[in-house]
Amino acid sequence: MSHFFRDRFILKSIFIIVLVSAMSSFPALAGSMDPRSLYDSYDTYRLADVSGPRMKHAELIQHLEKLQHEMKGVMSIEVVGRSAEGRTINLLTLGTGKKKILFWSQMHGDEPTATMALLDIVSYVGKNLGSPDVQRLLKETTLLIIPMLNPDGAEHFQRWNAQGIDINRDALRLQSPEARILKKVRDQHIPEFGFNLHDMDARLPVATTGKLAAIALLAPAIDSANTDTPVRVKAKKVAALITEVLSRYIPGHIVRYDDSYERRAFGDNIQKWGTSTVLIESGGWKDDPDKLFLRKLNYVTLLSAITAIAGKTYEKADISKYETLPESGKKIFDLIVSGVTLVSSDTLPSATVDIGFVQGRARGRSSDSRTLLQVSDVGDLSTSPTLERWNAEGKKLSMEAFRLGKNIEVDSIAKKLR
Ligand SMILES: [Zn+2]
Repeated sequence: MSHFFRDRFILKSIFIIVLVSAMSSFPALAGSMDPRSLYDSYDTYRLADVSGPRMKHAELIQHLEKLQHEMKGVMSIEVVGRSAEGRTINLLTLGTGKKKILFWSQMHGDEPTATMALLDIVSYVGKNLGSPDVQRLLKETTLLIIPMLNPDGAEHFQRWNAQGIDINRDALRLQSPEARILKKVRDQHIPEFGFNLHDMDARLPVATTGKLAAIALLAPAIDSANTDTPVRVKAKKVAALITEVLSRYIPGHIVRYDDSYERRAFGDNIQKWGTSTVLIESGGWKDDPDKLFLRKLNYVTLLSAITAIAGKTYEKADISKYETLPESGKKIFDLIVSGVTLVSSDTLPSATVDIGFVQGRARGRSSDSRTLLQVSDVGDLSTSPTLERWNAEGKKLSMEAFRLGKNIEVDSIAKKLR
């Protein structure tokens, strides 16, 4: 190469490097559906006025009516049945594509994180109807969304439906109206993909690391031999893609959910019936009792998965990324106060113990829970994992005030230890 050409070559290279680095520092394109743009622009597109995880059916309906109005005919809402107590169960349909994807959330009434995320997703689509990415998505896929399959459970903030049935153990007997509705929708539409959306205990660690399990994934088994069928392998690929996306934001906080076969559960059966199904469980995050960060991750994850299904890019995902995920370990405490002496006002002998606290929840309220802790275990907790540990050797506390199950403000614990 002559000097002239070499210098031009160097100049050109520098120009390209400058251009590329300038482009990467540009703000995310509006409506662009790569995970980074979705993550960065979340606050612009999420549904802002959701009251929180204690949202009930009446509020959900208000949001749906408002969203449908904003969607200008792009979304239809069908009442596909009623809960045991008579609340409507709604199926939202977006898009006209061949690839059908079914999402159902909150079949356990006290597991609301994904319901909020699904509303965020609808809000995103509604606000980006002009974006080429969203138009492609609506052309390639049909999104079938059942937010809040168990509205009675949401009303009473309990796992079960109003009859006391765990809908996720009712896939075979179909004794609850909610289970029959889910089965009916699945059989009617025969979706290629399914997303079974739950919350799990917010204080499980990743294996023995002491790190919180934020999200658990599972491509459920179809039999007790753990057989891989083409349908399940597809689900595993989507789970692997989701693992890749999540690893950017919460590396080391992702687990694989227990994959032993549960013959009564919906995920396992829907997989068996031919819909590639992925279970997503929202776990916990520090200082996020309402799981707003995990709601955002659900949104990014699901929109990324939809895009990957629309463009078939999930097919290239490396299944081992999902299969080698660690499982969750034994429950983790929020706080352990160690070495404290509990003194009874009664005739009970005093004892030197550790007190383990988990996130407390004020009854009937979702706010104000930020600083509330609940006494969860008392005794030798020297081997227990915890987010925080306070040494309180030599301090005395009242046994009555720290009984199992008591809710106590963090500030008040600190004050008593002063
Ligand atoms: Zn659940």
